[in-house]
Amino acid sequence: MARIDLQSLGHSYTPNPKSDDDYALKPMTHVWEQGGAYALLGPSGCGKTTLLNIISGLLTPSEGRVLFDGKDVTALPTEARNIAQVFQFPVVYDTMTVYENLAFPLRNRGLRGAPLDARVREIAGLLDLTADLNRRGRNLTADAKQKISLGRGLVRPDVAAILFDEPLTVIDPHLKWELRSKLKALHRALDLTMIYVTHDQTEALTFADKVVVMHDGRVVQVGRPQELFERPAHVFVGHFIGSPGMNVLPAEVSGRAARVGGHVIALRRGYPALDGKAKIEIGVRPEFATLAPAGAGGVPVRVRRLDDLGRTRIARVELSGLPMAATVPEDLTLAGDEASLLLDPAMVHVYADGTLVEGEA
Ligand code: ADP
Ligand code: MG
Repeated sequence: MARIDLQSLGHSYTPNPKSDDDYALKPMTHVWEQGGAYALLGPSGCGKTTLLNIISGLLTPSEGRVLFDGKDVTALPTEARNIAQVFQFPVVYDTMTVYENLAFPLRNRGLRGAPLDARVREIAGLLDLTADLNRRGRNLTADAKQKISLGRGLVRPDVAAILFDEPLTVIDPHLKWELRSKLKALHRALDLTMIYVTHDQTEALTFADKVVVMHDGRVVQVGRPQELFERPAHVFVGHFIGSPGMNVLPAEVSGRAARVGGHVIALRRGYPALDGKAKIEIGVRPEFATLAPAGAGGVPVRVRRLDDLGRTRIARVELSGLPMAATVPEDLTLAGDEASLLLDPAMVHVYADGTLVEGEA
């Protein structure tokens, strides 16, 4: 088990990086606490696999250091790092039985006899593989193979951390839910540091206690799911997490007021006049922007479309000609396309060049 420190860690696949754009991973410092259940979330190409492979030792970083429990492992190969890694596609030996596949990582570490047998059966039980123990790899479905891959990652009791790189991508959707909650339960039972890479927000938010959001080679926010939802540190996080994502509108901000078009929106915090060079925007999620009848005291908007999502209704509206999404309360009936928008001031955030600006209480 380990706490993993990344110190000024960066990586460029080009030999002589000249600008930020040449880095797949821009230099960063970050700590993964011992025992944490982390999700590493971001769109395809943002650098997740690069970061994971540096932690596991498959890739040597071009800059910075990796420490496990304070010990520098930057130059150590994977085998010497005591890490288990589960990849997107199953790694299963076709000619071996399921039992032998699961036993393999343990035999490699010198485990034999009753302790080996007990551990294999324990992990097989946790993953519902007990009935398949004597079947050969080649006779299994893709789903079963990926479960065995997960089992091979989880089987060693002595690992410092388990790294999962989009392990459920090729799994059938209904089995996904089941395996995801299994992984969460396994995390509780095994007390291991787990880092789970995904581009899927639902996977990240259900698995992790802490989500590390990456964008364009950078970590843009580390937080609990609720923090990412209620206080996105970057407009990217607001867009990427939630559905539909956070509304972002160009604004002029001073004191406790934001001006959007000709309208004033109240803010919970005070801000110094934020003009100058930065691009100033406000962000508010549709969940905190509620539609009311015209004249109800909020900001006047024009309703363009209603989307019935089953449990909730989302309205596409225009505020001074700017499109945004808002929640339609169950009991609201709209007459015509004029409506009023009520915003929760505590949930209206201010961004300068995409980054959250802390206001004053
Ligand atoms: P993710 O896992 O988030 O999809 P990757 O870490 O695989 O992202 O890739 C990050 C960036 O680095 C991408 O722009 C990708 O094209 C580039 N990249 C990844 N692997 C290599 C490589 N072996 N050589 C050169 N560029 C690479
Ligand atoms: Mg990847």
